[in-house]
Amino acid sequence: MDIIKFCVGDILVMKKKHPCGGDRFRVLRTGSDIRVECTLCKRDITLPREKLEKNIKEVKHEEV
Ligand SMILES: [Zn+2]
Repeated sequence: MDIIKFCVGDILVMKKKHPCGGDRFRVLRTGSDIRVECTLCKRDITLPREKLEKNIKEVKHEEV
């Protein structure tokens, strides 16, 4: 499996949607736990890195 690289500010497209229907999450903090914010409802979620990585479909690197 490929190593998924992402950093703060990137958008993660997830396989599993948020209950609100959104599937894009912005990375707020990285580490062993990753904090992401749903781009649709703006709620933030903290997940262990392994759990989050399994759920990533695509990473969109945000242009500065
Ligand atoms: Zn949401």
